Amino acid sequence: MTALHTRAENACELCGATDDLAPFAVAPHTGDDVEHNVLACGTCRGQLAEGAELDGKHWFCLQGAIWSAVPAVQVVSWRLLHRLRDEGWAQELMAQAYLEEDVLAWAREGLPVAGEAAAVTVDSNGAVLAAGDDVTLIKDLDVKGTTFVAKRGTLVKGIRLTDDPGHVEGRVNGVQLVLKTAFLKRAG
Ligand SMILES: [Zn+2]
Repeated sequence: MTALHTRAENACELCGATDDLAPFAVAPHTGDDVEHNVLACGTCRGQLAEGAELDGKHWFCLQGAIWSAVPAVQVVSWRLLHRLRDEGWAQELMAQAYLEEDVLAWAREGLPVAGEAAAVTVDSNGAVLAAGDDVTLIKDLDVKGTTFVAKRGTLVKGIRLTDDPGHVEGRVNGVQLVLKTAFLKRAG
């Protein structure tokens, strides 16, 4: 029995099945180190193959897997949820899921380049923005529903990314706002 089998308790780390188990290396990693592999059953591995059609019902198992303590399992689950995001339950689960920043970075790294590349959030200069970054406003912004103007040069600390690469969330004067990335510059 390998260290991976031990960690997985001899069951698929995604769906819990016990047949046809084998390691699945989580891209961009290719080796067989335990940290970067998940133990997956034949069904799961079949669907993890590039371009494979996903069976939404099978992946209800992600409601458990996304809460795994193992980063590699979190990454695979998050990527699958991302592919299933047209389904309400998957979207909801993604919103609830909490991934440490470095795990989230790993998860995003594996997204297919074509099509999904547009989902990278960048500032007005094309610098990539990540959750937790600080940004400054490059123009005065009217805040909808208030008379308050967020001034050019205002520092917004610890932004959050949204599903829309054109917008991030941040707190200005204690108010949580959705900000257009075209009007932001990464600070520091
Ligand atoms: Zn499985």
